[in-house]
Amino acid sequence: MDQNNLFEIGLGLAAPWKVVRSGLEECSAQSKILYVDIDFENGSKFPCPCCEKPCAVYDSEVKRWRHMNFWQHATYLSARVPRVECPEHKVRQVEVPWARAESGFTLMFEALVMALVKEMAVSAVGALVGEHDTRLWRMVRHYVGEAHAAQDWSEIAAVAIDETATRKGQRYATVVVEIDLERRREARLLFMTPERTAASVGQFVETMDAHGASAQQVRLAAIDMSAAYQKGVAEHLPQAKVVFDPFHVMKLAGEAVDGVRRELRAQGADVKGAMWALRGNWQNLKQEQRELRLSLCARHKAIGRSIALRESLQDTWQWPGPASAALHLKGWCSWAARSRLAPFQKLARTIKAHWDGILAFYPNRVTSAAIEAINGIIQTARRRARGFRNFLNLQTICYWIAGRLTLPIPSPFPHPI
Ligand SMILES: [Zn+2]
Repeated sequence: MDQNNLFEIGLGLAAPWKVVRSGLEECSAQSKILYVDIDFENGSKFPCPCCEKPCAVYDSEVKRWRHMNFWQHATYLSARVPRVECPEHKVRQVEVPWARAESGFTLMFEALVMALVKEMAVSAVGALVGEHDTRLWRMVRHYVGEAHAAQDWSEIAAVAIDETATRKGQRYATVVVEIDLERRREARLLFMTPERTAASVGQFVETMDAHGASAQQVRLAAIDMSAAYQKGVAEHLPQAKVVFDPFHVMKLAGEAVDGVRRELRAQGADVKGAMWALRGNWQNLKQEQRELRLSLCARHKAIGRSIALRESLQDTWQWPGPASAALHLKGWCSWAARSRLAPFQKLARTIKAHWDGILAFYPNRVTSAAIEAINGIIQTARRRARGFRNFLNLQTICYWIAGRLTLPIPSPFPHPI
């Protein structure tokens, strides 16, 4: 077997394609490239891309593709790519089996890059493979756009909708994540759009049709208590029961504790360092934060009461069902109302106004854990790229990492990395 045969087998070429020339070419004192020239026998016929009828070659043009490295050497394939003349469909471009039309990379090389950009920044991949990142971005956007557009959403029954920061300085986007109520599968990022308004929910619903889904099938939507998403769900997902999950309620409780601290500070009380000591659960605090929390609670009755209120609110979701949780929450609201702490009195009113949605946590125990996980992925992607120049690129990478997309190209890796 000669070297050309070996490359034919390696590339999986079949007649009429064959390797006619191959070797190392010196580009500079340090680097060589491997060239593999592919051709076809004169007189070969190729199927018409429309009707697959074998047709004679009309003309041809030499094209070149970057392939996966051969050891340390960048590898380029080149081939005479024919156009055929079909009696019915006239002159048509033939597709080669190793690359997409319009791409300067082979499918294998593209699959390699797609695997790498899941793990590292596109600019870093560009540096690693020696290609400009604008070329890689074009390819990544192509594959992700195509795979995302082809996704089947017909089984979606529940979603979580939340905001996520897209840049430093308070730029926000809305993300929609599929919740699997039986928890059989990991969460899937479905949709991401700039802004966080009621219309953001509408934008998601508008795309459902193209994915074989409709607004009517969404029975449950987990959201925060912002007016925007409540309005968005009411207007665009009419069949969805709204769930305000524990995470969002407890976030408000944390803000209420902070409100009490700020009121005290405004009155001239010494609450130095209290912000961090009062945040979060006891078990997550460092020893000095615990000591500071205890001392603050002892010195300021209002802080002690606010911490106790927050902890009691947390207990709501320990109850086994909606009736017992409702009873606990009712008791909590009257305690908060009598507490003489304005931020907690306000929270009690908010909770009463969102009563059904908070208890809709049961029976599926819907939490925003899914969306929190995806939010983590988005923030990692954002940091990795040190800020995205445009929203489309951030959206593309997030869909690729968290959207459970499948590519139409074979992976060069037998085991997913
Ligand atoms: Zn034809």
